[in-house]
Amino acid sequence: MLSTVIKYSEEKHYCPHCSGDLTLCHAPQVHVGDGLGWGSEYLFICLNDTCPLFVKGWDYIANQYGHVGSYRYMEIPGSKETYTMMVAGKDAFTGSIVDIEALKKQNERYMTQKKALAALDTAVEEKNLEPVLTIILDESAKVEDRKRAIEMLPQINDLSCLDPLRNHSFRDEHLAMEVNLALKKVLEANFVKECPYCSELVKLQAKICKHCSKEL
Ligand SMILES: [Zn+2]
Ligand SMILES: [Zn+2]
Repeated sequence: MLSTVIKYSEEKHYCPHCSGDLTLCHAPQVHVGDGLGWGSEYLFICLNDTCPLFVKGWDYIANQYGHVGSYRYMEIPGSKETYTMMVAGKDAFTGSIVDIEALKKQNERYMTQKKALAALDTAVEEKNLEPVLTIILDESAKVEDRKRAIEMLPQINDLSCLDPLRNHSFRDEHLAMEVNLALKKVLEANFVKECPYCSELVKLQAKICKHCSKEL
């Protein structure tokens, strides 16, 4: 879970060989057939290239096994397990460092979505457009939730929904169509239409746009 990895990222772990900070990394993919997963999606690893364990490891492995490699110190998050792990090269884990800022943003989006979903239940009676827009504009929200929110637009009947929805490009064409239909209802209920030239709102009966002076 995201909250777990965010908690891990706030923990401080130190390498007993070099006293440097351990780096939170994604655990490497292990072939299912090997049956030797780490039991954790994440690992704390000493990525310090001047760590004595890593520096001395090259000679040790060359002498013992006759191939190129060294060792990195590693701990399994949420446990007391520590390992000395063989690595084939310097960059073995640099590509799997956990991007905690990206994860935090993802978590924030998730929390905003969750809050908005809960607020949908009372959005119509409270004329609360905000959670409705949040869900409709959230491309990662479930289609059925977004459809439900779109249906609320005519019921809330608030013209301020127009700009954010018109400015959004929907990946799902069907949703875009449903949004258009809902907006049409909102416009009609407010006796206004959008000027086809400047997109500003004008009265339904207007013959000339008061914003761009074009004939309608
Ligand atoms: Zn170290
Ligand atoms: Zn106009």
